[in-house]
Amino acid sequence: MSTTETALTVHLIRSKMEDNDDILHQIAKKLHEQFGIEHPTIQIEKGTFSCKLQPDHKI
Ligand SMILES: [Zn+2]
Repeated sequence: MSTTETALTVHLIRSKMEDNDDILHQIAKKLHEQFGIEHPTIQIEKGTFSCKLQPDHKI
């Protein structure tokens, strides 16, 4: 990853753990098309534990 590349790190809560490859591919494609993000890092969590990085207000 270079310093000029636009990157994004996101934590995603998803109850299902199957078929993640497909949804990750679709998300990465959309992030690139809509926001020009070339290097997304997507972490999938099941929501069993509340994430420490979670803001007070959920979107
Ligand atoms: Zn998290």
